[in-house]
Amino acid sequence: MKNIIVANWKMNPGSAKEAETLFDSVKKGAKGADIVICPPFVYLPLLKGLALGAQNCFWEEKGAYTGEISPLMLKDMGIDYVIIGHSERRKHFGETNEQINKKIRKAMSVGLKAIMCVGETKEEKEQGKKSEILTEQIEKGLEKLSKDEVKKIIIAYEPVWAIGTGDNCSVDETMSSILLIRQIISKIYNREAADGVKILYGGSVNGENSGPYMKDAGADGLLVGGASLKADEFIKIVKSAN
Ligand code: PEP
Repeated sequence: MKNIIVANWKMNPGSAKEAETLFDSVKKGAKGADIVICPPFVYLPLLKGLALGAQNCFWEEKGAYTGEISPLMLKDMGIDYVIIGHSERRKHFGETNEQINKKIRKAMSVGLKAIMCVGETKEEKEQGKKSEILTEQIEKGLEKLSKDEVKKIIIAYEPVWAIGTGDNCSVDETMSSILLIRQIISKIYNREAADGVKILYGGSVNGENSGPYMKDAGADGLLVGGASLKADEFIKIVKSAN
């Protein structure tokens, strides 16, 4: 089974031209893993030749929801993946576990592959609440999903303190968080469902530190933010997934 390397471009780069240049460089150089590029919505129709994902979606298919994009629209545009519940959306837009659950269910119902982000903040980690937080995010985020649906979900373990800080999570700690996530899913569903879920690591991944998350920590791939905006660095990360 190939690892999945997801590029989260966030609100970058600043022009369509730059987006196309970055995409073309990655397309030429990155081989060996399943690559998913998640650019801002407006660039999605411009990019062809690698799997694409959106960075968010709404929980309804259409209607009076100014400014929102529906999963059905994404599916219709040939988009395969959608990131849901990224910590930046939880923080800046107040997204709740309940809203994230609604988004996941709608996205999956139209055939998108949902990448649900979970992870504890620095404060929660210091207070010894990691397990409690992950349990709550996963229980509420996956509510009402069947066993078969859960097997198709991708979970990105992204400790908030590691995102964009250069302070990447250690391989040992990542391994124990991935095991914890499988235990939580196993308790809600069963072992088979827990083993079927793909779990990625995200948080200050670069070309130097990426390999061991997949080789040693048991991650099925990576979610990459900052380093996905530099083609050479991202290509290095993809190569380390082999
Ligand atoms: C992210 O935004 O999901 C992320 C992991 O960012 P970075 O790689 O920059 O820490």
